[in-house]
Amino acid sequence: MASVRVAVRVRPLNKREKKSKVIVRMKDNTTSLVQAKVPVQGDGAKTFAYDFSYDSTDRKSPDFVSQKKIFQDLGVDVLHAAFQGFNACVFAYGQTSSGKSYTMMGEAADKGLIPRICEGLFCEISARNEGDSMSFHTEVSYLEIYNEHVLDLLNKRPSSAPKGGLRVREHPVDGPYVENLSRHVVQGYGDVGELMATGNANRTTASTGMNDASSRSHAIFTIHFTQARFDSELPCEMLSKIHLVDLAGSERADATRATGTRLKEGANINKSLVTLGSVISALADMSDKQATKKQTFIPYRDSVLTWLLKDSLGGNSKTIMIATISPADVNYGETLSTLRYASRAKSIVNSPTVNED
Ligand code: ADP
Ligand code: MG
Repeated sequence: MASVRVAVRVRPLNKREKKSKVIVRMKDNTTSLVQAKVPVQGDGAKTFAYDFSYDSTDRKSPDFVSQKKIFQDLGVDVLHAAFQGFNACVFAYGQTSSGKSYTMMGEAADKGLIPRICEGLFCEISARNEGDSMSFHTEVSYLEIYNEHVLDLLNKRPSSAPKGGLRVREHPVDGPYVENLSRHVVQGYGDVGELMATGNANRTTASTGMNDASSRSHAIFTIHFTQARFDSELPCEMLSKIHLVDLAGSERADATRATGTRLKEGANINKSLVTLGSVISALADMSDKQATKKQTFIPYRDSVLTWLLKDSLGGNSKTIMIATISPADVNYGETLSTLRYASRAKSIVNSPTVNED
């Protein structure tokens, strides 16, 4: 099993890009970026292969990839893993306004992966509840990592949070966790919907040069899912964690004309994203080396983000990265950097076609 699956999704042009040229082309599982300013002759494009390349630029096109299709490809796999007792992690990576939140959370009229995964979970639970040899228990938590500090998005009294954020600790068996992070028992999709709305409203936003409400923090929505069996002679309990992560914008600090606080945020964002990249490529590397059983050091502890995700990245966990990109020529540089990051996340064994000239 590949340790990490990688998908790339391109969104429609937005209002600010209306005069821009579309420079992203997708075919089968490949994504190509045609040079923005250089006239393309023959194959001047940079082409990358991923597990999935999702073209969501044009709703009217027969190739248009919907929120539902992404759930069917990726979300259903996450649910399978959880019901088998494995952990899973899905994260969205990309520059601000590239479609991370749209892909993960979506809109009321067109829900994204997180609400669809929750819906799918409760749907499967009620199907399995027909027999009574199993019992299911679901709790959710929702946190934000801002400047390497952990904040609880579901705590009704954020002012009571300790200065410097909540502490991350590591249990020898259960793995890393956040001390005093609130967890909420949910019995159906309605419960989750309310909590998501509260958490989204609490997300830290600050204006930057690029986007007024751009998110400068990583948000992790976690489903803690327990299944208990009674029918066998040895009753057993399985816990799976599903982490659904909306990462902060990946643009370099200078791209947003940042100074002072913004610059510090930029540095911390980059640190987590760089560490996440190193962790993922170390895992990809490890799966390549499995035959030779060479040890690979995985730098989980180098950022709060990767430390918290430790037991859901690699091993038997299902890890999915969705890289979101803009179709416009004005974003050429950021898009190329996102495509390269996504490409590094892929195991060498599973990505033979990377063609960059
Ligand atoms: P990010 O979270 O990466 O900063 P958003 O998800 O907020 O970006 O997307 C920016 C804007 O683009 C939003 O208005 C969103 O509705 C729109 N958008 C993003 N992706 C898509 C898509 N695949 N289809 C339609 N609209 C999209
Ligand atoms: Mg966002």
